Amino acid sequence: MTEYPVYEATQQCAICKGKCCKYMPGHYSPTDFSDLSFEGLKAEIEKGNIAIDWWEADPKEYYLRARQIGEEIVHGSWGGVCVNLSPTGCNLSWEERPLGCRSLKPSESSRGACIGSYTKRQSVDDWKVYDSVLRELVACFGRKKTPLEEQMDSVVEALNTLFSSMGGV
Ligand code: SF4
Ligand code: SF4
Repeated sequence: MTEYPVYEATQQCAICKGKCCKYMPGHYSPTDFSDLSFEGLKAEIEKGNIAIDWWEADPKEYYLRARQIGEEIVHGSWGGVCVNLSPTGCNLSWEERPLGCRSLKPSESSRGACIGSYTKRQSVDDWKVYDSVLRELVACFGRKKTPLEEQMDSVVEALNTLFSSMGGV
């Protein structure tokens, strides 16, 4: 796999107090894990700090990222606070952090942008090789729908059928 440049936290990170960690928990590369089998990744996810997210496509393209506080394991979202963030910074050692975090180059001033050399798109592409394992993990950790959600799905399905029989768009 491609080698990506990585960056240590700087004085600017101390000043900004981890905006990246408060709004966009980092994405993992498969190279962040030593055991990419179903059992190996399941054991890592069960520790509670990893979420299974996806890139919107048909079918969905799954990847792993750091989990947000209070979210489910299988969750398509961004914008929350990373579970690894503490008042004194990241709880993970440098080596344990997702490549998406380590590859983020801190800005040089409060007005500059922090640039990631390992993009989320690249992460999604790298996880494609392990798509069948990620789908097994989604089936394992995905939340079952409540009876009300099942009913709502049936109503939406019935309405879609009705609209298509009427020639609607
Ligand atoms: S990488 Fe950027 S956003 Fe993240 S802590 Fe450092 S300066 Fe703040
Ligand atoms: S894993 Fe650590 S560095 Fe990465 S977003 Fe979470 S708190 Fe920040």
